[in-house]
Amino acid sequence: MERRKTKKIMVGNVPVGGDAPIAVQSMCNTDTRDIAATLGQMERLRHAGCKIVRVAVVDKEAAFAIGKLAEKAEMPIVADIHFDWKLAIEAAAAGAAKIRINPGNIGDDDRVNEVVRACRSRNIPIRIGVNGGSLEKGVLEKYGVSARGLVESAKSHIFILEKFDFDDICISVKASSVALTVDSYRLLSKEVDYPLHLGVTEAGTVRIGRLKSAIGIGGLLLDGIGDTIRVSLTEDPVCEVETAYDILHSIGMSENVPQLVSCPSCGRTMIDLIHIAKEVEERLSGIKKPIKVAVMGCVVNGPGEAREADIGMAGGKEQGILFKKGEIVKKVPMDKIVDELILMAQEI
Ligand code: SF4
Repeated sequence: MERRKTKKIMVGNVPVGGDAPIAVQSMCNTDTRDIAATLGQMERLRHAGCKIVRVAVVDKEAAFAIGKLAEKAEMPIVADIHFDWKLAIEAAAAGAAKIRINPGNIGDDDRVNEVVRACRSRNIPIRIGVNGGSLEKGVLEKYGVSARGLVESAKSHIFILEKFDFDDICISVKASSVALTVDSYRLLSKEVDYPLHLGVTEAGTVRIGRLKSAIGIGGLLLDGIGDTIRVSLTEDPVCEVETAYDILHSIGMSENVPQLVSCPSCGRTMIDLIHIAKEVEERLSGIKKPIKVAVMGCVVNGPGEAREADIGMAGGKEQGILFKKGEIVKKVPMDKIVDELILMAQEI
């Protein structure tokens, strides 16, 4: 899969776009003004692998809080601002690494110019965040809530920044409909080369939200589209980060992580495959290698069906087999097979 070439921008010390790895982001749901709570959540997010974190800037106090947060947080902070251009300037001065604001919502040119100056002088990019639920009246009248509508809205904001010679830009065109999200990003990626921030917005609670995000974000990534991702869930944001990595992992885009291949089991299975596969998955999480490991339910078909795996096991009634690239290498009693498979994974 070839990734679409985009312009590289820097969000603090994290590169986004160009040949940079896909950056996982999330957003705090704490009150930004509550420094202890927000820093605590940022730390949990960072621990989960989050690379960039966004906070809502609702007033001056929240904009100033970014200064205190940026001193202690070990990742770049994005200030999320709706409409109030003065807050954007204050957040930039306080230490935000990126500002999310739509220039078309700021008002006259002088104000946009001031925001652009505040960002340019500190190398702070601006994310234009278009949302299917809040398209401008003119766009709605002309295009309705459609991919063309989202893209034209994004382009009108881009145009304003480019007018001020500002191109340190990242863009998102999110919708709560997966199909509209995917269509919009596909269209946008043909028309601009700025880095794209992917997400399905208001995706819902964990069960369906994870699926919507996996289909939308995962599908676009497989098209080579997307430079940074945020999964939106009505859940603890740590779950968003975990889901983002699961998406990257399941499409083979995470680095140095083993992939588990396991069969659904069937009437030929004589072992507790569900339990074994879960145990293997858990124990593989400590191994940092890009290997494919198979866990199969029967010795007759298992090795052949999992031929593309680097190593694997197939279970029988008392004995199982270990195999490499579909070739049997060893017979092992079932009570030792998981240990032996993990050993093989560590040594390969
Ligand atoms: S590997 Fe064996 S147990 Fe698993 S689905 Fe195939 S035939 Fe059934």
